[in-house]
Amino acid sequence: MRIEERFFQLAENLIILGPPGAGKGTQAVRIADRLGIQHISTGDLLREAVSEGTELGNKAEEFMNKGLLVPDEVILGMISDRLSGDASGGWILDGFPRTLAQAEALSSLLEEKEIELEKVILIDVDPDLLVKRLTGRRVCDSCGAVYNVATLPEDTKKCEKCGGKLITRDDDTEETVRQRLEVYRKQTSPVIDFYEETGLLVSIDGNSGIEDITSNVMEELA
Ligand SMILES: [Zn+2]
Repeated sequence: MRIEERFFQLAENLIILGPPGAGKGTQAVRIADRLGIQHISTGDLLREAVSEGTELGNKAEEFMNKGLLVPDEVILGMISDRLSGDASGGWILDGFPRTLAQAEALSSLLEEKEIELEKVILIDVDPDLLVKRLTGRRVCDSCGAVYNVATLPEDTKKCEKCGGKLITRDDDTEETVRQRLEVYRKQTSPVIDFYEETGLLVSIDGNSGIEDITSNVMEELA
């Protein structure tokens, strides 16, 4: 019993939240690596389940083929399986919850499974910086390679890999980016409030570089 309690103490069960362009996925991978816990990306879960043709994957595919959103309970089912599987020693959930309804459903699931959520990490980034990052994205129109003007030599107009033309996608224009950020803000503020009320929310300054952000998170978790 004592040993079980000790393991329970050692497990880190985390959620990571952040706007598009905050580098949430990158941070989730780095944090999982440092803590030796599983990175549960709901995007990856979905892709894997669909390609493996699991029961939940097939269900998800039906909705995707119709151009519909995959229902919360299907995603929750995938998360549930993973929590009982290789992630039982600790996890960081990335990509879920995005809405208050999802946050509440996840709480019920964790309660049912007697799993304790320890912290919710919010990567907080200045919206203007996000716009700058997201509008700086360039895509090669022949091989699809993705670049950012911030890391490209000045006046680069061609793909380093194939010499194709670098273009700005319609998704990455300032107007579209601001709309995406607004959708995120509207959907996620109630989620942030929800976790703030439970005292689990840790807000991290995400305006700096990748290394600094990871260090700040690790400090908060220590
Ligand atoms: Zn290319």
